[in-house]
Amino acid sequence: MSDQYLKRDRDFIWHPFTPLEGAIEPLLVTSGKGAKLITHDGREIIDAISSWWVNIHGHSHPAIAAAISHQASILEQVIFAGFTHEPALCLAEDLLKLLPNQDKVFFSDDGSTAVEVALKMAIQYWHNLGSQKTKIIAFKGAYHGDTFGAMSVGHRGAFTSPFAPYLFEVSFIDLPNADNWEEVLTQFKKEIFDNDVAAFIFEPLVQGAAGMRMYEPEYLDELIALAHARDIVCIADEIMTGFGRTGRMFASRFLKHQPDIFCLSKGLTGGTLPLSVTTCTEKIQTAYRTSDVYKTFFHGHSFTANPITCAAANASLKLILTEECKNQINKIETAHKDQVRQLAGHPNIATVRQRGTILAMELATDENTSYFNQSRNAIYSYFIDRNILLRPLGNVIYLIPPYVITDEELSLVYEVINEFLDLWPDL
Ligand code: PMP
Repeated sequence: MSDQYLKRDRDFIWHPFTPLEGAIEPLLVTSGKGAKLITHDGREIIDAISSWWVNIHGHSHPAIAAAISHQASILEQVIFAGFTHEPALCLAEDLLKLLPNQDKVFFSDDGSTAVEVALKMAIQYWHNLGSQKTKIIAFKGAYHGDTFGAMSVGHRGAFTSPFAPYLFEVSFIDLPNADNWEEVLTQFKKEIFDNDVAAFIFEPLVQGAAGMRMYEPEYLDELIALAHARDIVCIADEIMTGFGRTGRMFASRFLKHQPDIFCLSKGLTGGTLPLSVTTCTEKIQTAYRTSDVYKTFFHGHSFTANPITCAAANASLKLILTEECKNQINKIETAHKDQVRQLAGHPNIATVRQRGTILAMELATDENTSYFNQSRNAIYSYFIDRNILLRPLGNVIYLIPPYVITDEELSLVYEVINEFLDLWPDL
């Protein structure tokens, strides 16, 4: 069985972010329940990263499964131009109640397309107003997805180098911290001095793929305030940070100055189906409210606002608003804080950081911290061999668990991490 699936997989499938030679062999998963993935040979693996940060209510949640099944049996798909439907209406209304000053919801399929929509929406906003603004500002180390626009506003490195000539120009500023804040302010003010900046895009408070790099809301607040003083459209990519990850419903809830556009995906459907939204303020959509047909936002996808995905999102939202879910988020946050205290000063830890349900531990290695740090495969294998899914970003080990993770499961994950740290590098 094992050899058969591996051969079929090797012969026919190309996995994401995975080299075609030399990669660790994939495991055959047959089911999932709560925080656990169950393999064909009966292993129960704790999914401590919510399967790429999406699965906030755990696997195969019965309430979401029922909503999907019900919706599939009454309306599975309909063209979303010229038609609308109840699951999309409910979702848009509920999201707008939760988001700060947002006014309209545009649906797409995943994080990258939500970012593409946001960038196009901001650029065309200026175009519709008759202004030519060409510059976009982003943070160094950012990750906003793998399509061309999203790559353009993200960190330029090995992931993007084959495409470098095709990416548009972006001004990158440093991620602020206590030591570089004055410098970042100077960089930002210089970038916005000329009136040609269309948008400023950021992952609020936590840069996920960069290695869960965190920064304080006060810095972002000041940058947004400066941007708004120049009418620059501020885009919050909350694809990873949304839906409780940072301890509040959205990371932007830590800010006083609110973004103009939000991108949401991942936890939107409880991680069950691909769906994303890009939302905007009244001010942004007003630039499109005209009888001039050439000012239409000409963007859409075949599956825009697919009813089944919207039904899953409605069920997921209901769950996230329960007291039980809020308590679970608080419980994870408290447990992470405890782990941070325990690890302080550990000789094998360079730094440890936490925000809400996200905990990141940077392993001290001879190499620099990077996605390509050689320690990555040894870390991954150590944990997966012990039935814990952690997918380190280079030498950064992080936890971003489903909110349904039990106390026992979470304690076990910490325990195995602590054992690993005591053994490292002599595994
Ligand atoms: N933005 C952020 C902040 C992300 O973390 C990700 C995915 N990790 C994306 C965008 C892209 O989302 P997707 O993989 O669904 O295209």
